Amino acid sequence: MSRYWCELAWLGGERAQAGVMVEVAGGRIGAVTTGAAVPPPGAERLDGLTLPGLANAHSHAFQRALRGRTHREGGSFWTWREQMYAVAERLDPDDYHVLARATFAEMALAGVACVGEFHYVHHGPDGSPYDDPNEMGGRLIAAAVEAGIRITLLDACYLHGGIGEPPSGPQRRFSDGTADAWEERVDALAEGDAVRIGAAIHSVRAVDPEAAALVAGWAGSRARPLHAHVSEQPAENRASLETYGRTPTGVLAGAGALAAQFTAVHATHLDDADVALLGTCEACCCICPTTERDLADGIGAMRRLVEAGVSLSLGSDSHAVIDMFEEARAVELDERLASGERGRHGAAELLRAAAEAGHASLGWSDAGRIAPGARADLVTVGLDSVRLAGTTLEEAIEAIVFAASAADVRDVIIDGREVVRDGSHVAIDVSRELHDAVVKATA
Ligand SMILES: [Zn+2]
Repeated sequence: MSRYWCELAWLGGERAQAGVMVEVAGGRIGAVTTGAAVPPPGAERLDGLTLPGLANAHSHAFQRALRGRTHREGGSFWTWREQMYAVAERLDPDDYHVLARATFAEMALAGVACVGEFHYVHHGPDGSPYDDPNEMGGRLIAAAVEAGIRITLLDACYLHGGIGEPPSGPQRRFSDGTADAWEERVDALAEGDAVRIGAAIHSVRAVDPEAAALVAGWAGSRARPLHAHVSEQPAENRASLETYGRTPTGVLAGAGALAAQFTAVHATHLDDADVALLGTCEACCCICPTTERDLADGIGAMRRLVEAGVSLSLGSDSHAVIDMFEEARAVELDERLASGERGRHGAAELLRAAAEAGHASLGWSDAGRIAPGARADLVTVGLDSVRLAGTTLEEAIEAIVFAASAADVRDVIIDGREVVRDGSHVAIDVSRELHDAVVKATA
């Protein structure tokens, strides 16, 4: 058994606690006690504020290669998509493996204990399956394990290049041809202690209602997470309304996708009926603010969703940056800009989105909180950087959410194992691996 003494720790309430002792055995948290003014003999000392493991609930690992490379052209989401396709077109399993490992290691440095990898680059460049049809998914799972984080592989069904259109160019890599072929391939993926397999409907652009119903049935019958990109862009809503007479949320509801294990990713452009549908089934919405602003998507109405009964999770999606504190505060700060009001989402609520709710949306009901029986994830944020110096116990949660950076994460323990020590990954030279992998992917 290991014992950790946390100078401050967040145990889920509105305030941090001082002098928190956390016992860890077998990858699980045992007793948690507060009020130990000094570390007892034999306890490992964690100075700063210790959080539970964070969950990055929406990731496309290969898009890390685009960081900083898409800003000169201007344009829109749709012109950015062409640049993204150019990277997707070139990936091979070896290159993708090292890029994903470095990206997941960057997440570990940012305090991410679990990633939801929304995976659609399934096949070879001309659309032919690899000898192992799950070669790419297997590489992503291996990359997460090597980086020391848990993964939910959200294997995405993708059949059409747009509503009623065949996949073209790099989209051929994404398509299994039919939903039945998607199901057969995904059934061959194995879960493990740090690995979950979930399903994704790429979007109503890429998956027709009949195929969406099959994917939803697969997830529902196995109690697996089900994610879908929903209403990221107004053009998606227009196409859906023109073809189906319903919004994307309405189409997914008709396909039986809306359930408690459903996560709508983005959910930026919803109407009142969409909000009510998602709230009634207590679904999750995964908001990815740093990507949504990068791609000029718009600002979603997250307060309205929360009031309707939806839980929020957070994702770094395209990895324009990987910083869950930045994602968390952007939920509130973007709504301040749009509404002219402060305080629509409290700091503790945003941390719950980044930790427990994110884990729940990825199928890990036993993670994201520092409590007896939970997975032993501890993320310690130093409070002595120029960003956080002067932080008080009373407002430590607010300081972290509104001023911390991923660079303030000092120590990360995942499932009882030390993954980051004093700001460095224990197994991976993350900067070097990122450099080499990004250069290769974009050369
Ligand atoms: Zn996405």
